[in-house]
Amino acid sequence: MHGRHALALDIGATKLAVALVGADGGIVRIDRTPTLRDDGPEAVLERLLALAERVRGETVVAAAGIACGGPLDPRGGVLLGPLHLPGWDHVEIVRLVEQRFGVPAVLVNDASAGAWGEYRAGAAAGAASTVYLTVSSGLGGGAVLDGRLLTGATGNGGELGHVCVRPGGRRCSCGRRGCAEAYVAGTQLVARAREAIAIGRPSALAHVDPLEAAAVAHLAGSDDLARELWADALDCLGQLVADLVNVLEPEVVVLDGGLTNRPDLIDAVRRAVGADAIAPIRRVVRIERAALAGTAPAVGAGLLALERAA
Ligand SMILES: [Zn+2]
Repeated sequence: MHGRHALALDIGATKLAVALVGADGGIVRIDRTPTLRDDGPEAVLERLLALAERVRGETVVAAAGIACGGPLDPRGGVLLGPLHLPGWDHVEIVRLVEQRFGVPAVLVNDASAGAWGEYRAGAAAGAASTVYLTVSSGLGGGAVLDGRLLTGATGNGGELGHVCVRPGGRRCSCGRRGCAEAYVAGTQLVARAREAIAIGRPSALAHVDPLEAAAVAHLAGSDDLARELWADALDCLGQLVADLVNVLEPEVVVLDGGLTNRPDLIDAVRRAVGADAIAPIRRVVRIERAALAGTAPAVGAGLLALERAA
């Protein structure tokens, strides 16, 4: 195999993914396994490293990139109790990966890695600035501005899902009220449906088992509760994107994650930007679906690792 390759490790709430990424951002191999986070950090990390060894196989890798939700310390290479991994309070993930594979490793916020992946090799290729949002169990965000990845002072900036769109509103996973994530994230859509059903609201969602966010979106055309929750989610997402577009003036906003496959979601975001973004800016920006089919964080982490190791 020719060219330089990186191992990319993506540590999600429900699944672990490891990819072998080429210098052009292409994925040579990728494999996934459930996170099973209740097993605790030691067992999960061992499973992650074993998966990485299998994916590497006989390929010589030049670097390793690790994508994980925050908070984290990218300079020290340490996970600082990520919101989606309870109990992972001081995990020296970079040291563990460097010892196991003997190559330099970098740690980056997963949604920031996703932004870099789509910017270098996906829907935002060729743009100078892009905003990336991923709607899944949470609402992750990252941005590339004038060719530089937004990281902030300690590498924890760019938490675009935690912009307040409903002051005094729903409690968010971060502890604050009214963040966009509290309305748009899949886990929050499900929680809101369960809360309404528990206080006696009639809904077809009461009979969906297991209840997932996709069902809320799917039943929005026929069920009152689903319609209300989905409309609220689209309204909050549209408001968030319009504000981000006004602040950052990206050429492209990339929407990633399972729920963004719904055609009404991208339409709602385009309408909100058309209505609420400032005139010269809204003529520049394109709203696009992600092009890397859920692998953007791995691709971005791999490319960042190769660039830093160069
Ligand atoms: Zn929040």
